[in-house]
Amino acid sequence: MMTGRYDPNNIFTKIISGDIPSHNVYEDEICISIMDIMPESKGHVLVIPKAGARNLIDVDPADLAELIKRVQKIAVAVKKTMHADGILLRQSSEEVAGQTVYHLHFHIIPCYAGKQNNKHVTNATMNEELAETAALIKAAI
Ligand code: AMP
Repeated sequence: MMTGRYDPNNIFTKIISGDIPSHNVYEDEICISIMDIMPESKGHVLVIPKAGARNLIDVDPADLAELIKRVQKIAVAVKKTMHADGILLRQSSEEVAGQTVYHLHFHIIPCYAGKQNNKHVTNATMNEELAETAALIKAAI
């Protein structure tokens, strides 16, 4: 089985430390929230805890409790800013469930009536578009 321990050497710790750039919409002592570079829908953001955890299976419940409050706050802002009809919240734990980055994160994905989200995005979205959307969401939090 491909489950394992948390490895701090991952791309999200480098984003938290600022060693890799990101378009941030929110940050506090608990988490950072950034635009997903391969959005399944415009306004797709990730909420990433600063405390190290591999996924939902190993996260400290106290850390998770704080994190989910931020997830809700950011989801409300994303829904409002993007004029979405609904929000898909997704968290993949382990490869078989679709996890590709092994540092806990929640996806917040805007959904619209009569519109399918992108399933297989291959191209990263333009930086300028991400920056613009990030600024709008940030202003709504
Ligand atoms: P998951 O497949 O649930 O592990 O999600 C990982 C997500 O991280 C994917 O949606 C990627 O597009 C996203 N991602 C990977 N690298 C970056 C990055 N440098 N900045 C923003 N999002 C990223």
